[in-house]
Amino acid sequence: MARGANSGKEFNDQSEQVTNIFGENVFNLAVMRERLPKNVFNKLLQANSEGSHIDPATADIMANAMKDWAIERGATHYCHWFQPMTGMTAEKHDSFISPTADGRTIMEFSGRELIQGEPDASSFPSGGLRATFEARGYTAWDCTNPVFIKEDGKNITMFIPSAFCSYTGEALDKKTPLLRSNEALNKQALRILRALGNTTAQRVLTTLGSEQEYFLVDRDFVEARLDLLLTGRTLFGAAPPKGQEMSDHYFGHIHERVASFMNELNIELWRLGVSAKTQHNEVAPGQYEIAPVFSTVNVATDHNQLTMETLQKVATRRGFVCLLHEKPFAGLNGSGKHNNWSMVTDEGLNLLNPGKTPKENEIFLVFLCAVIRAVDKYSDLLRASVTGAGNDQRLGGHEAPPAIISIFLGQQLTEIVEQFEFGSDTKTREGGQIQLGVSTLPPLPKDLTDRNRTSPFAFTGNRFEFRMVGSSASTADPNFILNSIVAEVLAELADEFEKTNDVNKTAQNILKRIIHENKKVIFNGDNYCEAWIKEAASRGLPNLKDSVEALQAFMTDKAVELFEKHKVLSKGELAARQDIFFEHYAQTTVIEGQTALRMAKRQILPAAMEFSSRVAMSVTAIKEAGADPGTHAKALEKVCALISDLQNGIDALTQALEATASLEGSKKRASSARDTILPAMATLRSAADSLELEIDADLWPLPTYAEMLFMR
Ligand code: ADP
Ligand code: MG
Repeated sequence: MARGANSGKEFNDQSEQVTNIFGENVFNLAVMRERLPKNVFNKLLQANSEGSHIDPATADIMANAMKDWAIERGATHYCHWFQPMTGMTAEKHDSFISPTADGRTIMEFSGRELIQGEPDASSFPSGGLRATFEARGYTAWDCTNPVFIKEDGKNITMFIPSAFCSYTGEALDKKTPLLRSNEALNKQALRILRALGNTTAQRVLTTLGSEQEYFLVDRDFVEARLDLLLTGRTLFGAAPPKGQEMSDHYFGHIHERVASFMNELNIELWRLGVSAKTQHNEVAPGQYEIAPVFSTVNVATDHNQLTMETLQKVATRRGFVCLLHEKPFAGLNGSGKHNNWSMVTDEGLNLLNPGKTPKENEIFLVFLCAVIRAVDKYSDLLRASVTGAGNDQRLGGHEAPPAIISIFLGQQLTEIVEQFEFGSDTKTREGGQIQLGVSTLPPLPKDLTDRNRTSPFAFTGNRFEFRMVGSSASTADPNFILNSIVAEVLAELADEFEKTNDVNKTAQNILKRIIHENKKVIFNGDNYCEAWIKEAASRGLPNLKDSVEALQAFMTDKAVELFEKHKVLSKGELAARQDIFFEHYAQTTVIEGQTALRMAKRQILPAAMEFSSRVAMSVTAIKEAGADPGTHAKALEKVCALISDLQNGIDALTQALEATASLEGSKKRASSARDTILPAMATLRSAADSLELEIDADLWPLPTYAEMLFMR
């Protein structure tokens, strides 16, 4: 049997095998070096480092080597793997077989098939960028990400990471703008590096480590609840007597069944070359986290998609369902994805690492301040990059930052940068002097800078951690926006540097100006408290509370100018994206509304009616027997009142759904979903959750919060 046909399950308890299995399903550099002619291998390296194309002859040789490798591992099919605007991944499989004239078949795979696919895929959202009658959508191999093999049951397929665009070249996916934004950032960052005297770096890459939170719930419970099955979150459910208040789950010992799940998950991921590293229990009962070692942002984005997919796949095998929704359970922490982001040169210099030499310090401070300015100037866009109906349920809750973007720098670094405003003889906390290009910054101890878990955008020693990203989101959106806004500020600074003869003086002036203009975005305090919301307002920081509000940011003149200038998205592509996001928000909310309605009418109302009629019969029976039915009568009254509330909720939700469906235009539907469907769902839920606490447990038709969260 081909090695690739093994399931990860068979490797349990064999940690010594980890180094052997790591990346075994990836056509990585090591495999390529071994299997490709030297000149072909070098051409690929060159294309990767220059961002250039691979010529057809080279592609043919590569394709052939890949095919042989894949077939040896049991693959019969290949597939262009892409990330349409649904936020999920998409795959269309083709077999390698090619029939011969004599009635047999050979296995073939050409360079053309490697480089380009025509999946059509006309039903994916395009925001009007392509009419379905002109059907063609193209996928193009992203040669910066290695080809890999995925095993789904007995199906073994060679996956080709690809971008997805229309016939006329417009981006129809999440990956294309990310790749374009990498180019933009690379170009502008190199200009800055050159201006600051670095002559050797050839490329600047962005790095990403995304910590992924998720819930595990036993599959039987999920199958008994239409809401979890269809929407990934509970639309009903009274608060359990015990939740997360004891902090006994957070970093607690990992339950054996979950530990076995994690073990299998890690092995599957390692075989795919995903460097799963950290795992632990999270705050809410039933909530966990997995984090990889960081890599370049486009590889990390693909790997995060694979991680989400593998989480779900392994969970199903183990009798769990993995919930990636941002807020599966009301009243408990939701799930996010911490987006650890930095910039690094091809020589390995992390541009957000405080330096040891004066020159490195200057570079660090200029890049740090560029990020500060970008985040302040484009905070609305950054906020828009994390929209979604699910994330709206989480942001502003008790576990997540509010919708106000601010930066945590830590006390020491804040003091340092604030002093730039007042002149060049900047003193450090330890009393040393900072003069750019002359002396050095004190080394910043890491533990000093990573102590604020409430900040949406925190400096954590050598990177920024953007904590507002939703757990189910693709990391492509926040990072293409982050790359683009930083590229724009770097461009602005590079223009200035390139005109000057005195680089150090210019750097001083730039830092001084940035701190003066943009320090309002720096906030080291508690982001969760009321006082900050007021203070943020007085500082003039936007508070875009929900997705519908935040999505407006995509089409401001400022945004269109930015994305067009850096060739990340055209105005048409931006408009399409905004339209798709509005529609997705509306659609998600409508499905939730319909699901809530269905459950209320077919499960909750009948259970409540059954209970009330039983109590009513007892009232009559007790009266007939000559006793006082007082307690029964009171219970009946209470339940009947709640049933009436429930019916009112059903009516209101029905109306809200009808009203929303009648509207034309994605933005109008999204606004209506927010303003009518969500409030009606809340009213309905409140009645249902009260009923849950009043009626016979045996009659209650849904698994309860306590069962779902605590039974494994
Ligand atoms: P914490 O829980 O304290 O935030 P973790 O160790 O769980 O820390 O996660 C930190 C994440 O940041 C990891 O994925 C790690 O690889 C990533 N990371 C570390 N350095 C960088 C960097 N320079 N660029 C991007 N990500 C980084
Ligand atoms: Mg973190």
